[in-house]
Amino acid sequence: MRRASKGVFARAGRPAESAKRSPEVPMNSFPSLNWREAAACRSEDPELFFPIGEDGPSRRQIEQARAVCRSCPVMRACGTWAVRHGERHGVWGAMTAGERRGLRPSRP
Ligand code: SF4
Repeated sequence: MRRASKGVFARAGRPAESAKRSPEVPMNSFPSLNWREAAACRSEDPELFFPIGEDGPSRRQIEQARAVCRSCPVMRACGTWAVRHGERHGVWGAMTAGERRGLRPSRP
């Protein structure tokens, strides 16, 4: 049974709305965090984006989440936000937490 809350933002306690599909939109087109309003995952079960791991059986779940991300008009904005903010869990912008860690600048 699916929950009433949707998408990665709902898992983080944010409201859900229906997804609006449009071509990729750059992050600076959205003041603050408004890019989330166009997120494709708002119509998905948030658990899809939070696999228990990144290997083994979790791989299939990750690929399902990535498929949603690849159809998302704000994939780039989402991934950039997750990297910049050090989001430690879940699939954001079609990237796993491990993939995002590899993109973060190393500290001196
Ligand atoms: S890129 Fe993926 S996680 Fe990010 S808003 Fe779009 S569908 Fe959601």
